[in-house]
Parts: sequence; structure tokens; C-alpha cells
Amino acid sequence: AEEQLRQSQKMEAVGQLTGGLAHDFNNLLAGISGSLELMNARIGQGRLQDVEKYMVAAQGATRRAAALTHRLLAFSRRQTLDPKATDVNALVGGMIELIQRTVGPSVRIDTVFLPDLWPALVDPSQLENALLNLCINARDAMPDGGRITIETGNRRIDGQAARRQDMPEGEYLSLAVSDTGTGMPPEVIAKAFDPFFTTKPLGQGTGLGLSMIYGFAKQSGGQVRIHSEEGEGTTVSIYLPRHRGRAEADETPAENRLHPVA
Ligand code: ADP
Repeated sequence: AEEQLRQSQKMEAVGQLTGGLAHDFNNLLAGISGSLELMNARIGQGRLQDVEKYMVAAQGATRRAAALTHRLLAFSRRQTLDPKATDVNALVGGMIELIQRTVGPSVRIDTVFLPDLWPALVDPSQLENALLNLCINARDAMPDGGRITIETGNRRIDGQAARRQDMPEGEYLSLAVSDTGTGMPPEVIAKAFDPFFTTKPLGQGTGLGLSMIYGFAKQSGGQVRIHSEEGEGTTVSIYLPRHRGRAEADETPAENRLHPVA
């Protein structure tokens, strides 16, 4: 519970962080503007060697500003949720081709679908984003290839377990993505949900994937858990609340089913 509190505080700190980024961005703009002014002055004085120096400085600042914008954009892609009854098995099944293309041929993808999976109450496009993100992380942890296993399940969570996991008692679907990659040391697990925490080289990781998945899962009334062993691999499990009532597909009049609009 203490850990969970820490996480939600971290999520609240995101606002401050983005404010910090805006501040950094402004500083970079000031630097670019200053370089341009100096270039203008030196051109007037005919000192062209100096002009090149200021141009390089301005270009560097521009690149850093673009990288900042990229991080902000990635973050603001968090949309408001539009939850509906969702067949998670079908959603995963429909994404396998895209995932395989994204992770490349050196990664094998296995699926373990629970046949009588409950419908989930979740925003399907956000869940697709989350799944793709988890698979990209899994691939990044397996530079020499390996296996991704995507598994679905039904879970009743009550009493003790609910309190321990910081989620209301109830019935949940689980979507677990496992890999045979490097695994994560405890200090990385502890920070993995922090916005902008990344162990990847500059330009490769934004450090936003897991923090956005955390926000999405919590906002959906669910939870996300990491289980990882160094040298063995990692499993990230998303829990989503069970949808009560009939699945959306069942609510579609039979005559419309053969003619999907979208
Ligand atoms: P990013 O992928 O951009 O670094 P994330 O928030 O998705 O940002 O992940 C944060 C960090 O958690 C990663 O940099 C990596 O160190 C670690 N991580 C995430 N998923 C895995 C995984 N499947 N295996 C090993 N480490 C992982």
C-alpha cells in the first residue's frame, strides 16, 4: 500500500514534470534566439567563422528542443477513456500480426487464451496501445531474440489480496505479457512506473510506456503488476474490471452483424 501511495504521488508529480519540461524548452528557445542575434551581429561585422559557431549551437539547441517536444507529445497522447464491453481474447488475437511485424522475426509470440474469458470493461484502443507497448518493452529486453507469451485469465480478487494489490474486491480479467529477456533488477522494478524513468539509450526510450500503462490501468479501475527475475525474464500483468451484463457484440442486432460499418 505504501508503494502504491508512492506511485500515485509520482503520477501527480507528472504535472510538475511537464511544467519543468516547458521551462527547459523556454531556456532552449532563449539560447537559440541569442545565437541568432549573435549571428546577425557577426555577419554585420563580417566575422563569418563566428557565425558558424553560433549556428552549430543553435542547431544543437533545436535538436534538444525537438526531443523535449517529442516527450511531451508522447505523454499528451493519453486520451480520455471510452470504456466498453471488450472481448480481450479477440482484441489480442486481432493484434498478433501487427505485434509480430513490430517485434521482428527473432521473437516468437505464443498466446494462451482462456476460452471462457469474462468480457472486460475497458477502452479497447487504450488496451491495444498498452499491449503493443508491453511487447516492445519485451522485445527490447531480448536483443538476441526470444519468446513473448500473452496470456489471458479470469481472477477473483478479494479481502487480503485486494488490499495488498490496492484494488477494490471484485472480478477481474488479467492480461499478462511475459518475455524470456534480461529481467529487471529490484531497483529498476521500483522505478519502472515513474514517468521518464528509462534505462534505454537517449532517443530510444521515453520512460513513459509503463507510467502511461499504470495510469490507464488505475483509471480503468484495474491494476498493473510486474514480476521479474534477472536473467530469466519479466511478466507484466494488467488487471481490468469484469464487465457486468452482456458483451457489446451481443447487443448488436443480428441483422447488423454481417455488415460492420467500420
Ligand atoms: P521505456 O521503455 O521508454 O524505457 P518504460 O516506462 O516502458 O519506458 O520502461 C521503463 C524501464 O523499465 C525500461 O527502460 C526498462 O529498464 C524497464 N523495463 C520495462 N519493461 C521491461 C521488460 N519487459 N524487461 C526488462 N526491463 C523492462
